[in-house]
Amino acid sequence: MKRVLTGYRPTGKLHLGHMVGNLQNMLDLQSTYDCYFFIADWHALTTDYAKTGQLGNYIEEMVLDWLAFGLDPEKCTIYRQSDVPEVAELALYLGMLTPLSWLERNPTYKEQLVELKNKEIATYGFIGYPVLQAADILIVHGEVVPVGEDQLPHLELSREIARRFNYLYGDYLTEPQAKLSKGKRVPGTDNRKMSKSYNNAIFLTDSPDEISKKVRKMVTDPARIRRDDPGHPDVCSVFALHKIFTPAEVERIAEECKIAKIGCTDCKALLATSISESLADFREKRAKLAASPGLVAKILEDGAKRAGEVTRKTMKEVRTRINICPIK
Ligand code: SF4
Repeated sequence: MKRVLTGYRPTGKLHLGHMVGNLQNMLDLQSTYDCYFFIADWHALTTDYAKTGQLGNYIEEMVLDWLAFGLDPEKCTIYRQSDVPEVAELALYLGMLTPLSWLERNPTYKEQLVELKNKEIATYGFIGYPVLQAADILIVHGEVVPVGEDQLPHLELSREIARRFNYLYGDYLTEPQAKLSKGKRVPGTDNRKMSKSYNNAIFLTDSPDEISKKVRKMVTDPARIRRDDPGHPDVCSVFALHKIFTPAEVERIAEECKIAKIGCTDCKALLATSISESLADFREKRAKLAASPGLVAKILEDGAKRAGEVTRKTMKEVRTRINICPIK
């Protein structure tokens, strides 16, 4: 089985956008690849280093969400980045050989500097996060990395870093390949992309009541002002979510919306029910998992052991190749 690596920053609760994109992908991958799924807590620090009070909580919540969604620690290695300190060591070595210009041209770095103006992120840690990312992948010899189109430049940078290492110290690190994941756009309650930072997200842990309240506030077709105005489902965020959560009824909903047979209130009530129902098993499983003391700690401990066997082996070879090894 080829080895896949993917990691997520624990910066808040998971929402429907994560579920439809990342989590579903991870679930599909775990049966066909040797999966390394890690909680990227050091990466969380690159933008949120000043507010770490919730970090432990977010990590625990993320592991519970993953397990409740169906990720199985018997099938995949689930670990926390900071439990595998060799990653930091490799990032240090890779940082030595990565030209600053490669990092400065990273489009995400430039965008984020503008977008996150309220945070002081023009830091050494933030500009260097692609090097840390490369270390995450290369240390476990990740062969395949699932990415969205916007993350392709990052993966290319990891490949360039691997090539530079191999050129300097002999062929050893594996150049990872991209596995393009076509993420569906999941609109938030205001029709922008669902995101915690836009305050428009429906979280996996929301109760049916909270889901109803959020769905009731959702933006619909702006041209449908009165109940008897015909609607345009294709511009409506409620309809976009129906396509995901009520697939068996989308055709009927679209027809009835266009001739004003169904009103937005009923349409939203139906959506809230569909979302709640599709999360029912998840919610039940998650409640049971959350009631098992020490479960998350145990899973992370086991995962760190498994990942550590690979990372220690890699670092032994890396140190030898760059002559950071015991003096004889
Ligand atoms: S009826 Fe449904 S699909 Fe049509 S505009 Fe209202 S909420 Fe959107």
